[in-house]
Amino acid sequence: MFDYMIVGAGLAGGVLAERLASQAGKKVLLVEKRNHIGGNTYDHYNEDGILVHKYGPHIFHTNSREVFEYLGQFTQWRPYEHRVLASVDGMLVPIPINLNTINALYGLNLSSEEVDSFFESRAEKKDKITTSEDVVVNKVGRELYNKFFKGYTKKQWNLDPSELDASVTARIPTRNNRDNRYFTDTYQAIPLQGYTKLFEQLLNHPNIKVMLNTDYKEVIDIIPYKKMIYTGPVDYYFDYCYGKLPYRSLDFKFETIDTETLLPTGTVNYPNEQLYTRVTEYKYLTGQKHAKTSVVYEYPKDSGDPYYPVPKPENAALYKKYQQLASGSKDVYFAGRLATYKYYNMDQVVAQALSLYRKILSSPEIEYHG
Ligand code: FAD
Ligand code: UDP
Repeated sequence: MFDYMIVGAGLAGGVLAERLASQAGKKVLLVEKRNHIGGNTYDHYNEDGILVHKYGPHIFHTNSREVFEYLGQFTQWRPYEHRVLASVDGMLVPIPINLNTINALYGLNLSSEEVDSFFESRAEKKDKITTSEDVVVNKVGRELYNKFFKGYTKKQWNLDPSELDASVTARIPTRNNRDNRYFTDTYQAIPLQGYTKLFEQLLNHPNIKVMLNTDYKEVIDIIPYKKMIYTGPVDYYFDYCYGKLPYRSLDFKFETIDTETLLPTGTVNYPNEQLYTRVTEYKYLTGQKHAKTSVVYEYPKDSGDPYYPVPKPENAALYKKYQQLASGSKDVYFAGRLATYKYYNMDQVVAQALSLYRKILSSPEIEYHG
């Protein structure tokens, strides 16, 4: 008899399994349909011995000391600050747009104050920022929006930025200084031996049993448990009763090249050319020394593994209906990017899981299923 059946061995499921097993003495069965733990953070050594992230580049960054220290119990960290160049007008320039970007792109030598006036003179001021187009044109104007955001967003989401919530492009700031880093969070690091090793430590507890290669629906009626934590897609849990929630997917094309370094930086974005959105060289992230190098190209697509919830009003309305069913589901908790339909980074998923754990601790014990 398990106290908890947890569906999904990604960060949401992994953190909740660890907390419940090690802090609350609960017996946990972690059910995962893939053949590995780690969810989308899973990394492994490829045939050439290069450490790659199977589901695209994962760079950890957070402002939460609690989250950083919590994960730090299961891994050492390698400090890493990600830098990205965008291919625009035949040049590779820093993104997020900053002072260096503008000076390089327009052959200028502006100061921070001057670049503020430059942005201001081009900005199309909006009374209300609702969409992903509004965010960018309101700040930097339409020309830079067209160069950096319109094409990339269309490729990534198959939607015009005007159809997407503001929160999507708001992930990318605009700076008047020379800071070329992609993120400015207080803590930026990669697990020293990789994410999969972190998960091995996270789940290394006698109260946690892991069952791989299993969709929970195959075992739910035959394994007794008291409560469930579900971290898969919320619409699947409810048998798509209100219809499918849109998730965006990607094809990852990996290449290993017989050269020590290929790219000038960790990632190059292609807003205007190519069918892929970006290419990432893993050795920048992992710090691995190797005579060869591995890169991954990301090709967005509609169907396939659900990677991104699609933030737009109709989808939020549909999710709300599922959320109502979820909150009425006795003895089942929903957590993570897919089950709560939130475009969350890793640290936000960990924070959400830790907060759910605290909520569970304070709620009464419930009955047995099976
Ligand atoms: P997941 O990792 O998706 O885990 C859910 C698990 O549930 C999966 O393993 C799935 O197989 C399993 N599952 C689903 N249905 C079932 C079922 N029916 N039965 C059994 N198991 C099931 N975040 C960052 O902070 N930095 C980054 O650089 C970054 N880069 C990213 C790049 C890409 C391409 C993507 C797609 C995401 C990126 N993220 C990044 C986000 C990060 O991957 C997520 O925030 C995090 O991994 C979500 O964890 P999760 O546990 O909610 O979901
Ligand atoms: N974006 C863009 N151009 C870029 C980088 C990002 O238009 O060069 C937009 C695009 O809509 C993208 C979103 O900003 O989906 C968020 O970018 P981020 O790099 O955070 O995406 P993720 O790493 O989550 O795929």
